This record gives sequence, C-alpha cells and structure tokens, in this order.
Amino acid sequence: MQDPATIAIHADDALTELPDVAPAIRPATTFARGDGGRVYRRESHETTERLEAVLGALDGGHAVAYPSGMAAAASLLRRLSPRLISLPHDVYHGVRALVLQGAAERAWGVSEPGGLAAGDVWWVETPSNPRCLVTDVAAVASDARSRGVYVVVDSTFATPVLLRPLALGADAVVHSSTKFIAGHSDAMGGAVVCSDPGLADSLRIRRTVDGSVPGSLDTWLTLRGVRTLPLRVERQSATASAVAQWLVGRVPRVWYPGLADHPGHDVAAAQMAGFGGIVSFEVADAAAARRVVGALRLFTVATSLGGVESLAEHRAVVDPEAPPGLIRLSIGLEAAGDLIGDLEAALAGAVA
Ligand code: PLP
Repeated sequence: MQDPATIAIHADDALTELPDVAPAIRPATTFARGDGGRVYRRESHETTERLEAVLGALDGGHAVAYPSGMAAAASLLRRLSPRLISLPHDVYHGVRALVLQGAAERAWGVSEPGGLAAGDVWWVETPSNPRCLVTDVAAVASDARSRGVYVVVDSTFATPVLLRPLALGADAVVHSSTKFIAGHSDAMGGAVVCSDPGLADSLRIRRTVDGSVPGSLDTWLTLRGVRTLPLRVERQSATASAVAQWLVGRVPRVWYPGLADHPGHDVAAAQMAGFGGIVSFEVADAAAARRVVGALRLFTVATSLGGVESLAEHRAVVDPEAPPGLIRLSIGLEAAGDLIGDLEAALAGAVA
C-alpha cells in the first residue's frame, strides 16, 4: 500500500477527463448526449468521482460522497435500516439528534451494544466529540461480527491519516469532510466509505434518487483540500500534543488521547498513527469557560473543527450533554508557541 501522502495526490490520476494538471471546476448540471457519456449531474460527476477515488483509497474501501457529514450518516442509517442502533455516550450531538429523531419516528430503536442482533448498527465515534474518548475498533468489530451487527465508525476526528477502521474490521466509515479532509473551513461535505462495494453501489443509487449529491464547488474545494490532508494532520497532531501537555496542571482537566493518563491512551497508541488535532479541557464552570473563550485572541470562537485556523468553543452552548466548563480546541496550523501564548494570556485573564 502507498503512503497516504501519495494516495491523497494520485489516487484519482486515472479519472481525469481533461489534460489539466489541476482538476477543473465543472459546474455544469447537464452534458451533451454522447455514446456512453455523462447525462446529468445528479447521476454522476467527474469531480465527485475523483474525490471518491481519493477518499476510498485513503480508507481502503469504496467511498460515496455527500453534501455534509450528516447527509452521509443519515443516508447510511436509512440504507442499513436497522431494528436497533447503539450510540456511544460521548458522541457528536448532531448524530445523537439524528438517531433519537429516527427513534421518535419509530424508524429504529436505541439500545446498549449488548442488546444488538443481526442487522443492527453499532455506531462508534473515535476519538469522540467532545471528550476525545477512544474506542477499540478491532474489539468492537470482532464482538459485532459474531452477532451479524454492522459496525459504523465516525472517523471525522481521526481522518484516514491516523485511523483506518475498515482494516480493523469495521463495515463502514463516516466522515464529515467539512472538517480536516477539506481543511479550510470553506467546503461542506461528507462521505461513507464501505468495505463492501455492493453497499457503496446501493448508496450511490439511493443518492441519485434522493438527490443528496454534493455541490460541484464544495467537491472541488474538498478535492483540493485533501491533497494536503496528511501534511496538515501530522502538524496539527504535533501542535495539539504540545498544547495538551502545556494545559496539564494549569486547568482542572485535559481531554487528549496523547496524554498518558487519558482513559483511551493505550488503545489510541495501538490503533492510531497519531492523536489528532482536537484538545478539550475543562475549567471550573460555565462562567469561567465563557471568560476564557472571551479572552482568546488567536483562537476564533466558533463551532466546527479541522481547518487551518484554530477554533475554540464553549461546548455546552451547543451540546447540552457536554460538561459545563468544557472548552473544545481545534488546533490549526499556527505556531504552537503562539497558540500556547494566547491560551496563557486568556487563562491568566479569566482567573484574575
Ligand atoms: N461527525 C462529527 C464527529 C462531527 O464533529 C460533525 C460535525 O461537527 C459531523 C459528524 C457532522 O458533519 P457536517 O457538519 O459536515 O454535517
């Protein structure tokens, strides 16, 4: 297997229809009829196929691109149509809302993993949002396989650069490519990557019928962004480690899988190629968290994550399950020393 750095740049080489070295922006919705040619953009599009070739190769499976991470998650769950879904306790609040909404509409029920049977879905998010909790994907996959349960891993925080869930036995991976994969906070998208090509084909047929296709500019920006994903994630992980280590002892609690006392450290060290660009930490209470984020200057106070610019969010504002004093940092590509300096000033000001 090639290195992710090479895959990200060359996995779609064979798919270009033009001599351009850089992919062209192709906004056309319809194509002049020709023998065996493309017909309509909702059915097929070159940029989408190129992006899918790259994402599929990075994860070692068959990728289907969507207009958002939530569209990817919703389309996969609707296609699998399980009787029961098991969700982790720490999980992206949008996925929790999607699953609970489906349960309220009696599309499926919600269960602990022990209650799942053949055809059900064991949803894993590792590292999780916002506490960066880690799940042992190989252990879940082997337990699930013995019962015919589908394992879906939301790998948005890890990206295929740090974690390859299909190689560990998962059936499908979900990404919000809005985050690290596109990487510049300017393109929304999502992807499902399946080990079974038949499942990917059926998702594509369903996507055409549903009309849930990604836009041409978003797809183009995501393809451009993914070229540098390995480089960015490597640097973001290194800076996040430095920030997490600096925070230890200065705030009551730091959540980062790279720290030896994080509950998932050993599993993360074994299954990941790095610990990722997200660091969460807790201060005393919601008021202190508001003061800290209000005093930050380099970190933009905003939701989302994975872009080149560092973001900070007082998570309880959007996620009622988050601890009241939890601040989630998405580490960008600024210098570690400057980010630590910003945190030092903000923490000093908030305590004073
Ligand atoms: N999964 C995780 C872990 C996320 O953090 C997010 C968004 O923050 C999503 C899925 C949903 O992605 P999108 O906003 O692209 O729909």
